Amino acid sequence: MSIKQYYKKFYKGSKKSCMDIIKAKLEADEGCFVITANPEILMMGKRLPEMDKALMSKDTLLVPDGIGVIKGGAQLGVRFEERIPGVEICEELLAYADDTKKSVYLFGARREVVEALVSRIRREYRGIMVKGYSDGYVGGKDEVFKEIIGLEPDIVMVALGTPQQELLIQRHFAAVNKGIYIGVGGSFDVLSGLKQRAPSFFIRHNIEWLYRITKEPKRIKRFWDSNIKFLFELRKEKHGSGKAV
Ligand code: UDP
Repeated sequence: MSIKQYYKKFYKGSKKSCMDIIKAKLEADEGCFVITANPEILMMGKRLPEMDKALMSKDTLLVPDGIGVIKGGAQLGVRFEERIPGVEICEELLAYADDTKKSVYLFGARREVVEALVSRIRREYRGIMVKGYSDGYVGGKDEVFKEIIGLEPDIVMVALGTPQQELLIQRHFAAVNKGIYIGVGGSFDVLSGLKQRAPSFFIRHNIEWLYRITKEPKRIKRFWDSNIKFLFELRKEKHGSGKAV
């Protein structure tokens, strides 16, 4: 698919209305695959057929996480109401699950991280039933995932990093009866309280990516690779047909 097709598919409204859609799916016991996309994921969609399928699936709610996605949209004439960071969806989902007594399964991150998050949920979100959890370094992730689907949790957060988490969900989503499945990258590290999110200044000015790079310089290559290629791709597509989306 072209990047333009992904832009057609993106959810473009506010974070609040996006959460309303997710909550309605939860209440209707429908299955939903939430992808919080940045330029890197979109570029993978062009390269990996399975990622492309995941991005375009009718079961997928495609959400603009990175500021690069919003800026890229502006180049194509696509407007977004706001950026919707995956970690904020997770926080809101946990609060909602607490209020409405929903069940959650947590899959991913290092063992001490996922355990710290489970402890926090048991302490601070007493309405949530933790159906189970597993760290992200176990062998046989497909088997673990099949078991998770069988448990039918209301919410499944998968923190294995991109593209592993999206490809795993995509491989098995046809077997899902109900539940919100969301790939959350490094969010467990933050939600557990073990790692700080960027200070609010960085979040407000849409430069959270810059903060993450200064904390983890190994991200620089990955960031530049995907974002620069993304800009070239956008330019190519834009001038290819000359039409906005
Ligand atoms: N991770 C994991 N298993 C793996 C590789 C990574 O559980 O085999 C976890 C890792 O511990 C971290 C998260 O996946 O918590 C990846 O975080 P990152 O911020 O790199 O996510 P991305 O930027 O790729 O979305």
